[in-house]
Amino acid sequence: MRLTHLCLASCLALTTCLTWAAPPAATAPAATEASAKPAVKPPLKPAAAPPAVPADLPRSDVRSAADLCTQMVRRLPNVSRPLCERAELQTGPGASVRGTPIFQRDVVAPQARLKVLVVGGIHGDEPSSSSLVLHWIDQALLTPSNIHWRFVPLMNPDGMLKDKPTRTNARGVDLNRNFPTPNWVKEAPQYWAKRTGSDPRRYPGPKPLSEPESQWLHEEMARWKPDLIVAVHAPYGVLDFDGPHVPPERLGRLYLDQVGIFPGSLGNYGGVHKKLPVVTIELTSALRTPQAAEMRQMWLDLLRWTADRLGAD
Ligand SMILES: [Zn+2]
Repeated sequence: MRLTHLCLASCLALTTCLTWAAPPAATAPAATEASAKPAVKPPLKPAAAPPAVPADLPRSDVRSAADLCTQMVRRLPNVSRPLCERAELQTGPGASVRGTPIFQRDVVAPQARLKVLVVGGIHGDEPSSSSLVLHWIDQALLTPSNIHWRFVPLMNPDGMLKDKPTRTNARGVDLNRNFPTPNWVKEAPQYWAKRTGSDPRRYPGPKPLSEPESQWLHEEMARWKPDLIVAVHAPYGVLDFDGPHVPPERLGRLYLDQVGIFPGSLGNYGGVHKKLPVVTIELTSALRTPQAAEMRQMWLDLLRWTADRLGAD
């Protein structure tokens, strides 16, 4: 299987934006499985060691939604205390490596026909993504829809609430490379070593679902069975889509530009392999939110697309 993608002009210089081709099939022939003497291959040796992990990670001091709001108001762009309090975030079953709860908010229409999971802060150095989710909770409370929304503004609290926020979680794992896509064991480490030059910001982890944050989302997909996942990132200024259904052409000023898939990514796992549509939003800035009118327009466009294409009305 060969995967290619259109490289955006804005990220030509970035290692994330790479055309990736899976190893040629000839190196892993199907006949090997049927062979009486399967070839023994040496384990992959990454070009560099995985990130060092502190032996004793301090436990999180974020225990309540009020604690989280204190942190988010301090660190996130365009988030006021009233906005965060209106979100009425609650703890769910998930928690981070350091024990921070993965907070969520459900907004349920009386006769909901669809379940939509909206997740921000998968990468800790993209705080605008968490801000957008908080603003959209406000929009969901104002806008009638036939959807059961589950909003998770901050899936990677350990990465975002550090003094110096990091893309990865507390153990240095890129959560969006840690989902169990087929051939992860071979492809994810190989991609990391060869295509990112063992970039520590993109370390996929020692094995799929090695991290409690990615485990939580994986379990949430099985437990709650959302009809759609909306994952919010930054800063590539584009809309991506994986899975069945006709993708949205645009959300606000973000236009569809399917930039490819990566071993272990949520879009690859959910959209391609689980056949669950995944809309990936890449905001234009990691540190600033769009204007209020733009965030509302994105919300309205998302509502219109779910109604037209997923039958939410
Ligand atoms: Zn991201």
